[in-house]
Order: sequence, then structure tokens, then C-alpha cells
Amino acid sequence: MLKKNDAQGHSVHPATASLHAGFRSDPTTKAVCVPIYQNTAYELDGDLSKIADIYNVKEDGYTYTRIINPTTRALETRFAAVDNAADCLAVASGQAATFIALANLCSGQPGDNIVAAPFLYGNTWNLLHNTFRRFGIETRTAANSEPAEFEKHVDDRTICLFGECVSNPILDPLPVRSLAEIGRKRGIPVVVDNTTTPLVCRPSNLGAAMATYSATKYICGHGTTLGGLISDYGSFPFQQYPDRFPLFSAPDEAHGGILWHQAVQEVNDLGKSAALLKARMTWLRDTGPCASPFNSFQLLQGLETLHLRMRQHCENAEIVADMLNNHPKVVRVTHPSHFTGRKRELADDLFDKRYGYGAMLMFEVKDAASGRALIENVEMIYHVSNVGDARTLITHPVSTTHTTVPREKRMAAGINDGTIRLCVGLEHADDIIRDLERALSAVN
Ligand SMILES: *Cc1c(COP(=O)(O)O)cnc(C)c1O
Repeated sequence: MLKKNDAQGHSVHPATASLHAGFRSDPTTKAVCVPIYQNTAYELDGDLSKIADIYNVKEDGYTYTRIINPTTRALETRFAAVDNAADCLAVASGQAATFIALANLCSGQPGDNIVAAPFLYGNTWNLLHNTFRRFGIETRTAANSEPAEFEKHVDDRTICLFGECVSNPILDPLPVRSLAEIGRKRGIPVVVDNTTTPLVCRPSNLGAAMATYSATKYICGHGTTLGGLISDYGSFPFQQYPDRFPLFSAPDEAHGGILWHQAVQEVNDLGKSAALLKARMTWLRDTGPCASPFNSFQLLQGLETLHLRMRQHCENAEIVADMLNNHPKVVRVTHPSHFTGRKRELADDLFDKRYGYGAMLMFEVKDAASGRALIENVEMIYHVSNVGDARTLITHPVSTTHTTVPREKRMAAGINDGTIRLCVGLEHADDIIRDLERALSAVN
């Protein structure tokens, strides 16, 4: 079995961890690939007091797939090694990951608030501003992504600073390192959604406390499977802030008056993150968005080649961004590889250039009619509002995801009438370019 560090203390590279971490072979058959334990419950045999210990989080063990499953646990352990995390929790979708990661931090008393970045994935915006608000959790939005704007909204009941490492679809880079400094000073964890840049951006190195991922996107990589992952980097001392995070230090009624910081020391496999142990044993148990074992298996397959695919996605995106930048019918290209000034600084701090700058880009044609004509004239590229498929995907937000958003509001967010979002896939870059050039020739 792969160890986290070798005898010389070298940590294992993500490429290796994605193939080896957390699972060697099936204990009964010696099968090398993680088996699909398409299974709901586990026989409670043997010593009954031992069974009670599993239920009471005094011992590791399998009880029910809503809470834990061997296939899903292998995905969690493997992804934790890939993402430099203490532990990881897999759930049914990216939205479930964001929901559970943030709900898990609330105290359950009035006053809890989240300070969020100005640009968020649409459904995350809805989760924060509508659904959480209905539960009494307030979201305060920073006017822009400068750290000082976040700090203005912080109070002694702020449960986290939240944003996307680079926002979907606006591509606004988040100053994760500076936010983490504010967080350390004020005792507030930084939680980032790193869906669009796994491995390209390493939240663990930037001081983030936790990250959420829609594994549906690049981790799956093939547009076949929904899933979500929450990483806990183990760097945030929740227990040191009992006023802000009472459920991390006082007895939690949601699990028989358990003390999570003590419980986490009694278990072994699940003993690497008090936050995720709490999330699993209360939020996942009670709300139920567990990963299906089959989906976890699919995500394990995707994870094996994530590092190769991300490199190729990023390389293709830069080639396509350069071509679009030189095209007479393209008004503007937004891709982190083309950032200048402050955004350049942020991007250079956020991204591991050995991978690149991510594979999502935006560009702009003259007007809405040109945008529609472009979409209608691509042949190979798919008109699909998804991210992180192996295939190149294109959307015209004004005709799809942003049709109901008032014009001034979307313009303020950088979505103009002729804005196009492109998620560059793994085809040969020449073929992506040829398709775009042909479609652009049909545009005014
Ligand atoms: C897609 C996406 C999500 C939601 O993920 P699902 O798996 O579709 O629930 C959240 N955040 C970002 C940035 C996304 O792109």
C-alpha cells in the first residue's frame, strides 16, 4: 500500500496518489481495481458492544451506505491524497458538497453569516442567497474580490469566507492566500470551490481550510457522472473558536451529545478530520445526499487520469485563447493566461504553471445575434452548458443560463450580449480552432 511519505520524507505526487492511494487490492479476491460495493447495509455480526461502538463513533466500521460505503470511502481516501487533504467526504453532487461543507459550519443560532465573493456559479448563488437565507444563514457579498472588501463584512459570527478559485463563468480570480491571512487573524476558515481547476490550483498550499469540488466536471472528466467532494486540509483549528463554532467544541445533540474533537481521536480511518466526521455523521446522515457506489467507481476511473487531462485541457485552452485573441471578429478574450496587472498577479499565485491556467475561457463577439450565429454554426463543438467534459463545449449565456437575469445585472457581472463561454476539451487543438474559425466566418 502506498504511504503518504517515503522513508526520505518525499511526499507522493498526485499522479501516483491517483492510482495508488487508499486502496491496494480487494481483501477477499485481490482484485486490483476498487470493486463496486453496490450495497446498502452491512451485516452487524460479532460482538454487540463493538457494533454499538461503530454507531457511537468509537470505532471505524460500515453501517449503512447513506453514511459510508467501501467504494466511496476508497474514492475519499484517494482524493484526499491527491488533493493534499487530511480527509475527504464524497457526496452526490457539487451542490451537495457546497451545501454540506457550509451547513456543517453553522452554529444553528441566529447570526451565522457567510462572506462570499461577488461572482459565483449560479446555483451556488441561489443556495447562498435564497436557500440558506431561509434557514437563517445570511450571505454578505464582497463588492469585489479584494481582501479588504471581504474583511469589511466580517463579524464574530462569520462562519467562513467563501468563493471560487476562479469563478464560473466570469473567470474572476480569488485572492485565496490573502483571504486565508485574514482568516487566520480573525479566526475564520476560508472555503473555496475549486471545481474548475483541480490540481491546477492547490488550495492546500494557499492556506484554504476546506475546498469543495463538483466531481461531475474534471474529476469525472467524461460527462457521465454526478458527484461532489469536500476536502478538509486540516489547517483550521475550529476548536479554538468556541463562540463561532460551538458545535466543534461543545456536546453535539445531533449525535447523542458527542464531542467531535474527542471522537475524531478514537477512530482511525475516519479520524483525520473532525469537521468531516461531523459532516458525515450528522449532515450526510440527516439530509442523505450520499454518493452512489457506482458513481464513486466512475469517479475513481476519472481520477486516475486527472493530472494528464488537466495538462492537456490547459494546453489546448491557451492555444485556443491565443487564436481567438488574434481573430478580427472577436472583441475580447478572457482567459487567465491573458490576464494583466492585478489579475495577472493573482492568477500567477493561484495556478501551478506546470498545468496552466484552466480550460474555461470567455470571449466576446459583436452582439447577441452574432453570439447566436456562432453557436448555430459550430459543427464538432457541443452546445452544452456543462464544464469539464472531455469534449469542447460552448454556450451563449444570454440565450441559456442567463436568459432570466436582468440585462444590467448580467452586464455588471461581465456577461454581455455577445459573450460566449467555451470549455476547451481534449480534441486536437487544430480541430477545435478549425471549428471555431468556420463558425466565426458565419458571424457578423
Ligand atoms: C457545476 C458546478 C457546481 C455544481 O456541481 P454539480 O455537480 O452540478 O451539482 C458547483 N460549482 C461550480 C463552480 C460548478 O461549475
